[in-house]
Amino acid sequence: MRIAVVGAGVVGTAVAWELTARGHEAVLLDRCDAVAQETSYANGAQLHAGHAAPWNPPGVLRDALAWLGKPDSPLRINPWRVLRAPAWSLRFLANATAERYRRHADANAALALYGLHHARAWRDELGLAFEAHDSGILKLFDDSRALAKGREEAKAVSALGVRHRQLDVDATVAREPALADSADQLAGAIEFPDDGYGDALRFTEQLAERLRAEGGELHLGTAVRHLLGGRGGVTGVATDSGPIPADAVVVAAGSYSPALTRPLGVHLPIEPIKGYSVSLPLAGTVGAPTTPIIDDPRKVVITRLGDQLRIAGKAEITGFDERLPERRWRAVRQQGLARFPRLAEQLADAPSHPWAGLRPMTCDGPPILGPTPVPRLHLAAGVGHLGWTFAAGSARLVADQLESRPCEIDPAPYRLDRYRRRGG
Ligand SMILES: Cc1cc2nc3c(=O)[nH]c(=O)nc-3n(C[C@H](O)[C@H](O)[C@H](O)COP(=O)(O)OP(=O)(O)OC[C@H]3O[C@@H](n4cnc5c(N)ncnc54)[C@H](O)[C@@H]3O)c2cc1C
Repeated sequence: MRIAVVGAGVVGTAVAWELTARGHEAVLLDRCDAVAQETSYANGAQLHAGHAAPWNPPGVLRDALAWLGKPDSPLRINPWRVLRAPAWSLRFLANATAERYRRHADANAALALYGLHHARAWRDELGLAFEAHDSGILKLFDDSRALAKGREEAKAVSALGVRHRQLDVDATVAREPALADSADQLAGAIEFPDDGYGDALRFTEQLAERLRAEGGELHLGTAVRHLLGGRGGVTGVATDSGPIPADAVVVAAGSYSPALTRPLGVHLPIEPIKGYSVSLPLAGTVGAPTTPIIDDPRKVVITRLGDQLRIAGKAEITGFDERLPERRWRAVRQQGLARFPRLAEQLADAPSHPWAGLRPMTCDGPPILGPTPVPRLHLAAGVGHLGWTFAAGSARLVADQLESRPCEIDPAPYRLDRYRRRGG
């Protein structure tokens, strides 16, 4: 089959690669002049099945209200955005019940495990070099109640195969000596030994190179204006350099996916949730962590990627706003370095490389993968805060459903028709 894939972020590129590897004619399109220039460019780099739960646990509204207005709050909401598009926010809150949250957290964990497995298989089989390390991840807690809650959350997904280990303060510092200077803040940590990290940009670039080498087509600097065909079936895509016919189309356009599918009556409950990262050069410094860290109270992740430190965090419901206010990214930088005072001193004058990206977040949590009511139109969208972790697994689920083959994990929790079947 000749299959057009719209969007060369980490997800679309993984889909196009998987289709090429299966012998299809994949045509990967992106409006940017290179792959992974939007949300996949400088994310937190963590590959984590241990931290896969959606962002709407029971009590999310109470937590959100408590955060609003605080100067270093991880959350920012533009009320005008919510008023202009209230449906997503209402559905996000409606999914914050204990039963739905558990179901969606399990679905995310299953896909994260599947994605991790296949990303590592591609790394090993294709010889991809993207700073990938199966290092495990440490999630840090400053008070024992939050730690106990984190442990409950970790236990809930252990039946799916997500392993974890609780560490007291001494064991946490023994595991990551860079935390020694701030050990007095800590209540302990949970270690997820099977998680890891890697650079999503380099992964995507290398996969795109392999795609080209295997005969896949890559059209960069090519914006898709609309999908060709109608509700009776898609026939390709209309681009700013002309039409591209295809037997099927996969929309993997991140936060911009809903705009492409809406004219065909396919409504995707996806909202852009903005986040920031700051990359700092580590050359000549000592005391940087080597294990990726999730700082639970500060809501930032910290990952060493070769000779740089990547700190990422914040969640803003501010629409398609890609601005990079210095106050916001500086807060991410400061919160990421807070546990490493000696490193912070050494980095005081180091250049910061700030970045912002829009996480394509569904109203319930899991992504939307697979067919739509429009024949030959498929989706690889809504991967939210976990798109890097989900990418390879999502690619396989999308390809299996395009080929009408049985999937290796149950595709139902990720299909668009879940919203019709179950509401939400
Ligand atoms: C601060 C931050 C930290 C994060 N940390 C992590 C992490 O540690 N681990 C993790 O697993 N995930 C993380 N994520 C999430 C992850 O980065 C995203 O889920 C993932 O990058 C989304 O990939 P995507 O391919 O769906 O979207 P994108 O990377 O945005 O790709 C979509 C592509 O579609 C193209 N496009 C859109 N419209 C059109 C059009 N009309 N025509 C042509 N091209 C079009 C865009 O140019 C873009 O390249 C983080 C995200 C952020 C913001």
